[in-house]
Amino acid sequence: MPGDVILLGAPGAGKGTQAQILQKRLGYRQISTGDLLREHRNKGTELGAAAEGYMKRGELVPDDLMIKMVEGELQGNAGVLFDGFPRTAAQAQALDALLESRGRGLPEAVYFEISRPLLEERLLGRWTNPRTGRIYHEKFSPPKVAGTCDEDGGPLVQREDDKPDTIKKRLDVFEAQTMPLVAYYRERGRLATIDATQPVGHVTHMLMHAIGVEHAH
Ligand code: ADP
Ligand code: AMP
Repeated sequence: MPGDVILLGAPGAGKGTQAQILQKRLGYRQISTGDLLREHRNKGTELGAAAEGYMKRGELVPDDLMIKMVEGELQGNAGVLFDGFPRTAAQAQALDALLESRGRGLPEAVYFEISRPLLEERLLGRWTNPRTGRIYHEKFSPPKVAGTCDEDGGPLVQREDDKPDTIKKRLDVFEAQTMPLVAYYRERGRLATIDATQPVGHVTHMLMHAIGVEHAH
């Protein structure tokens, strides 16, 4: 079983884009807590209702809800790419304990390093297919036909939280609450850092190298 990997980085750093590529290419399983929460919200579950206000304001959903949700998602033998989780020290500790208790071993973290102005530009131009989660950017990865998904022809939308005020809030929250996790994994010898400002294909290459699968197909 390939090891589990944490994609660690600010909103807009390119975690989801890379997780989708590695999932297709290498058989990893992506667990995106943001996508899962949006599914809960769309289905109108109790968790979705509890999370909605936090997400709209760009705040973090409480740790106990997030940890319970991830616990319920962890089955199967495929290596997992954690995308958007953990985001707090409490989540990181809980994830280590959970994976150890399931005999999976401790995950490596890959930090996507990138500056704030670039993050804002990426988030402001992001378009997604809400049915499949497929990610585009109007300038950096445009679909063939504007507003339409290349894969299923469905309409693309901009996320409600990809607006200037909410973006600012989310980036502040990242710096205050999630950035300390870089030190958490570094101190434990489980951190690699990649230059997330590079084009998508180049980042994929660096990521595969960081997790030791560059010769896999
Ligand atoms: P995250 O999951 O970290 O929030 P995404 O993968 O959704 O980030 O990417 C944010 C935006 O930036 C999307 O519009 C995506 O198309 C674009 N993007 C992702 N990676 C790159 C890259 N390496 N270069 C340019 N744009 C990128
Ligand atoms: P994302 O799609 O990763 O940008 O996440 C969208 C929103 O979902 C965040 O702004 C948070 O409100 C919430 N969220 C996603 N993952 C987490 C997490 N691990 N902890 C707390 N809140 C989260």
